[in-house]
Amino acid sequence: MNQMVSNMQAPAKKSPIKRDTHTDMGLVNPPQELVPSRYALRLGQLDVLVISDGVLPLPTTIMATNVAPADLATWLDDHFLPQETYDWPLNVMVVRSGDKIILVDAGLGGQFSGFPRAGQFPQRLQAAGISLESVTDVIVTHMHMDHVGGLLVDDVKHRLRADVRIHVADAEVKFWTSPDFSHTVMPKPVPDVLRSTATSFYNEYRDRIRVFDDQYEVAPGVVVRHTGGHTPGHSVVDLESDGERLMFAGDAMFPVGFEHPEWQNGFEHDPEESARVRVGLFQELAASGGLLVASHLPFPSVSRVAVDGDAFRWVPVIWDY
Ligand SMILES: [Zn+2]
Repeated sequence: MNQMVSNMQAPAKKSPIKRDTHTDMGLVNPPQELVPSRYALRLGQLDVLVISDGVLPLPTTIMATNVAPADLATWLDDHFLPQETYDWPLNVMVVRSGDKIILVDAGLGGQFSGFPRAGQFPQRLQAAGISLESVTDVIVTHMHMDHVGGLLVDDVKHRLRADVRIHVADAEVKFWTSPDFSHTVMPKPVPDVLRSTATSFYNEYRDRIRVFDDQYEVAPGVVVRHTGGHTPGHSVVDLESDGERLMFAGDAMFPVGFEHPEWQNGFEHDPEESARVRVGLFQELAASGGLLVASHLPFPSVSRVAVDGDAFRWVPVIWDY
């Protein structure tokens, strides 16, 4: 009996961690968390890793600012979601193309105490065996705090290479010199925090920021493309290799957007243009059959889009273990 108790109290033997068989992105460290918050896939010659930065609890009303409360309530009920608060998933992506390691957005960071469950990306990147020192390029879809905040964490700032290239649309950098919030619907302190975070990001990285106009090929098969909409300089990332495609759509789409692409989001600086961009990207994805990953779709968000009458249908892929 005593032996049994002591066995039970002994530290559990580490079971061997099976390396992913479908990518070789250097997953050398065992997972630190019970629920793995990374999902790896191979797209032609590209290695792709989606990492969850965590979740951001926000009032549900932000997801549908131009609809009757009853319509939003019905949508939430239909999806078994609570009425008051929605936990926005927040996803970051890493791509390896040849000798380039490209980070797409960087999560919220740690400076916003109201969101203790987000800001996880730096440690989760490390747990995936990818060092910040190895990142050659960063693509910023737009300069909202949940996309650039992670770049302002001290440990991230110090470990990123001095020659890292940070790609942002020229229109985005220009917008944040005098941002217009007149069409947004945000809780009170948010516009000020968004403005100050974007300014801090620009000031911190101004020497390393490379702006582009319409699109820019960051590495073979990795193109960042200006769409506007959510913010004037909002961009998506198109991956293409050996005929396979994946789009990182940033904040062009949210969970409600498939069934209701016209529903406006409180964080959209130009809601009507945002809806046009959203529909255009949905149509592209439905036509190409390419994969979709987006910042605020449920992790890992790897999915496809189908046309469904006047709207669209979200089709998550089956996890490929
Ligand atoms: Zn966002």
